[in-house]
Amino acid sequence: METVELAAGIFHLRGGSNMGLVVREGKGLLIDTGLDKDSGRRALRVIDELGVTLEGVILTHAHADHFGGAQAIQRRREVTVYAPSLEAAMMEHPLIEPLFLFGGAAPIGDLRHKFTLAKPCRVDQVIEPGPLQVGPFETTIISLPGHAPNQVGVAVGDVLFCADAVFPAATLQKHKVIFCFDLDEMLATLDRLHELEYAIFAPGHGPAYAGGEEIVSICAANRERLEEIRECVRAALTVPQETPALVQAVSDHFGLGLATATAYLLTRTTVLAALSSLERSGLVHPLVEENRLRWRLS
Ligand SMILES: [Zn+2]
Repeated sequence: METVELAAGIFHLRGGSNMGLVVREGKGLLIDTGLDKDSGRRALRVIDELGVTLEGVILTHAHADHFGGAQAIQRRREVTVYAPSLEAAMMEHPLIEPLFLFGGAAPIGDLRHKFTLAKPCRVDQVIEPGPLQVGPFETTIISLPGHAPNQVGVAVGDVLFCADAVFPAATLQKHKVIFCFDLDEMLATLDRLHELEYAIFAPGHGPAYAGGEEIVSICAANRERLEEIRECVRAALTVPQETPALVQAVSDHFGLGLATATAYLLTRTTVLAALSSLERSGLVHPLVEENRLRWRLS
């Protein structure tokens, strides 16, 4: 894990999933915890090396790679954990994530690994957008929905920890189809994000971006990708199609080689988000005939 000081006492702990750490008056505030007990322990090691006491943990959203390390931290430290509503329910009942990926049924074994089924954690305080004081830390919670239903960012001073509102160029390049719960909300969040007046934007994956040109350009790249996915789904509907044909069309378009049920089901969620968006715009509607649900252009 690489520790980067973004501003005085504000650190970006970079790994598979990034964490944020703010240090002040001998106390520490952690933003997200990484995937598992190893990432939780790594965060505690940094906190110990800085010689501060962990005061609080703010969790941005209920994806396993962001809150999976929280249980290990709670077992080792007396700490207050904060999370937004709905996301908090999923952190306390992590089965919800693989359950929704599997269409609401008991998830298959492939979805029961730590990347989609985290260890549960206790959320002490549900947070809302607006100012949040945690010990000596004055933070602002900012709503950033779309990637997850009630994802939030955490602003401290001139730095906004913006979770998975925006993905780095490396992820766009490698994974192509970024995970999305509500495509319209994610687009709206991208449009708002670069207009927020922070000097530094520190996301959950990849490097931090300077306000201005840097954040504008990565937000534009994310927007373009989401629009390309939605357009790909629309273009595949020259004849009515079932969802699996659309997952295949999108995967083929981006040259993906989906190799696991989890990879397939994550991609399917983004395709379904594109269908929701098209349906909301009146461009597509579901058609059930011959016991098949197909999507048809309106
Ligand atoms: Zn996420």
